[in-house]
Amino acid sequence: KTWHQTGLTSKILEMIKKLNYEKPMTIQAQALPIIMSGRDCIGIAKTGSGKTLAFVLPMLRHIKDQPPVEAGEGPIGLVMAPTRELVQQIHSDIKKFGKVLGIRCVPVYGGSGVAQQISELKRGTEIVVCTPGRMIDILCTSGGKITNLRRVTYLVMDEADRMFDMGFEPQITRIVQNIRPDRQTVLFSATFPRQVETLARKVLNKPVEIQD
Ligand code: AMP
Repeated sequence: KTWHQTGLTSKILEMIKKLNYEKPMTIQAQALPIIMSGRDCIGIAKTGSGKTLAFVLPMLRHIKDQPPVEAGEGPIGLVMAPTRELVQQIHSDIKKFGKVLGIRCVPVYGGSGVAQQISELKRGTEIVVCTPGRMIDILCTSGGKITNLRRVTYLVMDEADRMFDMGFEPQITRIVQNIRPDRQTVLFSATFPRQVETLARKVLNKPVEIQD
């Protein structure tokens, strides 16, 4: 499979060429057509498989045709991940592409730099990548004036099994309950234990399952 068979836009294809990603990795070749068709997707894949671009590229495609997010509005794409390090990693992958496309991304996690994250959120951003606990804090602070979930139509749960291990299930459920049900949802997990399967059944709509 080649990149040109994936249905991505020419600007995204140019960026991929610049990064010297010769061809889609297995999980990308599987995921891209499914996610780009608008279907929900469960991907069983580990770090190093190329899973990040498998959900990032369709997200950029999803956002590109929509009116930009204005100050006071919430994001269109929301990515949840278990740790600050993974949030930063995903954020940096998105930024490489987002710049060219005029799509902004704000990372949301605890610790240093929170004031800057909040001011960027208030200005408006098309994508938020977050740890679930920190996101709940921010959504609840100042009565939802920092950001909100009303425009979210593309939701990603990355490393879902690890988010469970870290006890994030209540926060994930709370966030998901506040996102419109006609969204597109993508879940990635290295393993697929019963609890992740139960969550997936609740949160995803007729998902297509793929495995690296
Ligand atoms: P991930 O599993 O998403 O953490 O990605 C693993 C690494 O593979 C990252 O450093 C990516 O930059 C790189 N990568 C992603 N897609 C490709 C590709 N199609 N070809 C070569 N490298 C890639």
